[in-house]
Amino acid sequence: MPGPEFFQTRMGKAFYEGTMPRVAKALERIADVMEKRLLRDENEERNAVAVQALIDANNLAKENVSPIEERRRAGKCMHGVMIGEVCEACEE
Ligand SMILES: [Zn+2]
Repeated sequence: MPGPEFFQTRMGKAFYEGTMPRVAKALERIADVMEKRLLRDENEERNAVAVQALIDANNLAKENVSPIEERRRAGKCMHGVMIGEVCEACEE
């Protein structure tokens, strides 16, 4: 006569009621960790792109100063006269 099915044995019971649920739980935890890592990596990538865009915009702004700003940096009024000297246009 045939013996009991696997699930009917003590070993089968331990497998289905102990081992299998633990394996399923472990797989869920692994999936959770991977999902969180993926989200974190995506956020870091997006942040890096945004920071680089800000750096680029800032560099562009530094390179492209208006003529008036260039004169101000050189210590001149908007008419190109050194500050401290008399600029007739500014005096008007
Ligand atoms: Zn002036």
